[in-house]
Amino acid sequence: MVPCQRWKAESKRTSVVRLTLAPESVMPAQRLDGRTLAARLEGVLAEAIRHGLSVAGRPPGLAVLRVGDDPASGVYVANKEKACARVGLASHGAHLSGDTPQQELEAALRQLNDNAAVDGILVQLPVPDGIDDQALLQVLDPDKDADGLHPLNLGRLVRSEPGPRSCTPAGVMALLKEAQVPLSGARAVVIGRSTLVGQPMALMLQKADATVTVAHSRTRELAELTRQADVLVVAAGRPGLIGAEHVSPGAVVVDVGIHRKAEGGLCGDVRSAEVAEIAAALTPVPGGVGPMTVTMLLVNAVRAWTRRYGLPDPCPGL
Ligand code: NAP
Repeated sequence: MVPCQRWKAESKRTSVVRLTLAPESVMPAQRLDGRTLAARLEGVLAEAIRHGLSVAGRPPGLAVLRVGDDPASGVYVANKEKACARVGLASHGAHLSGDTPQQELEAALRQLNDNAAVDGILVQLPVPDGIDDQALLQVLDPDKDADGLHPLNLGRLVRSEPGPRSCTPAGVMALLKEAQVPLSGARAVVIGRSTLVGQPMALMLQKADATVTVAHSRTRELAELTRQADVLVVAAGRPGLIGAEHVSPGAVVVDVGIHRKAEGGLCGDVRSAEVAEIAAALTPVPGGVGPMTVTMLLVNAVRAWTRRYGLPDPCPGL
């Protein structure tokens, strides 16, 4: 078997983790701190908006279409609105009842498409049973698709063309870049193959020249596979699925999963206490991928606004 590349954290500066080759290293994992990076990116976006206002004559706008009264969705939408307010985007929320017919929802989205003050639109998922979320996504103007989930934008990702990228995997890529994790030639394993996370994640890692394997619920001998990973991204939606037996010393582990624990608090798909003893770096839950997902939503909306007014890209390279 070809030996895996391994990295050792050599810097503990704030959110920056510099990783260098260190095959035998075993040490507690560095935190890949999504909150700190998200806050810094918010500052960059706020600055870009301040600079661009005189040209555009209006701030960028983000619209969230919420359907029904799922309490978790309510919290997520409120968080997005707070993030917009911090950065200087205008929020254009639309909250429709769970029994709104599909056609009316599609009409509401078309109105947002036509609203000149709106640069980014997202449909808060999940939508109630009986509503076709894929049909809703197809109604979105692809250039206003703040979540990067429109089929055209997934196609643009496949073809390496510019366009809004799926927020969660784009947030993971930003965290890996910030930590200077070397991806070229690295072995990456992505657990999960959803359109929302796993598939775009695998594509993004592949385009960064990693050699990518995608695991899913039918994968045999998962631990044997994941132990080969230099970079392991876990997006299975199974609390505590990944433990010490799945990770080799020095791997970089990204935990996308997020679950509410019965006793209160949040946890991920990774048993963080045991994996932190083995991995070189690990994202915490909460405070890892979650804040980056929200920030990448803002990046997509602000980028649509800067493009529209011929302003510079606020976050080149992201
Ligand atoms: P999903 O649509 O349910 O997909 C889960 C994927 O994991 C599927 O491909 C499934 O395989 C695979 N899987 C399930 N059990 C497995 C197992 N035991 N071994 C290997 N693979 C397994 O979920 P998702 O939307 O991708 O989200 C995944 C997780 O990320 C959830 O916890 C979600 O809440 C979280 N999430 C977090 C953020 C954030 O911002 N932090 C954003 C989005 C999602 P099959 O295809 O074979 O069924």
